[in-house]
Amino acid sequence: MTRPTFRRILLKLSGEVLMGPSPFGIDPDTVMRVAKEIVQVKQAGYELCIVVGGGNIFRGIAGAAKGFERASADYMGMLATVMNAIAVQNVLEQLGVETRVQSAIPMASVCEPFIRRRAERHLEKGRVVIFAAGVGSPFFTTDSGAALRAAEMKCEALFKGTSVDGVYDADPKVVPDAHRYDEIGFSTVLAQDLKIMDASAIALCRDNNIPIVVFNIREQGNLVRVLAGEGVATIVR
Ligand code: UDP
Repeated sequence: MTRPTFRRILLKLSGEVLMGPSPFGIDPDTVMRVAKEIVQVKQAGYELCIVVGGGNIFRGIAGAAKGFERASADYMGMLATVMNAIAVQNVLEQLGVETRVQSAIPMASVCEPFIRRRAERHLEKGRVVIFAAGVGSPFFTTDSGAALRAAEMKCEALFKGTSVDGVYDADPKVVPDAHRYDEIGFSTVLAQDLKIMDASAIALCRDNNIPIVVFNIREQGNLVRVLAGEGVATIVR
């Protein structure tokens, strides 16, 4: 099946993706590999926003389970996303792509604050804009941040790069003959509680008519293929 192609997209990179084969943290070789694919995406003429997660460094919910107050732990998680954003920015700039990091938590010495109109200007000038710190509030995730920024920046689709090649009716790591959907509706995803993104992110995409394309970003070359409407993925719309 050929999927639609888009001009302005938002790429959600979870922290797990940046960790590569390591059990924790940022793997420079993996960041470089993903960045090289992002360069190809730019060269193909796409306008690109990126939202980075932080789960490779710190997750609020895990911190809370160990005794930190949830809100404080979530702020720690948001700071982790800023570290990831700087890593992605640095490698992209080494490859000659102009970027800006905008954080939902202002951090003047490190990056720009999130200003929608300024982000718009960066995109018009051909820069990649990397959004950090999710929505800037605890009790949210960077998936919600991705959905929100995609809506604000009028992205035509949200590409969720994960370690599975789409949406299945059961966990393919547990159920060997699980079925992968080529396409699935927002309402089915919500009704069946399929674990693609959190429900608030999915609802925001549904309400703003932003399709979500779920694909395996760990597979070399897949980002470019899937953006071109090829390769294995599931489109949620
Ligand atoms: N976080 C938050 N508010 C947000 C986005 C993120 O509190 O708007 C915190 C939350 O603790 C989360 C952590 O930052 O666990 C890292 O983000 P996330 O788990 O979404 O990263 P990913 O799973 O994509 O690596």
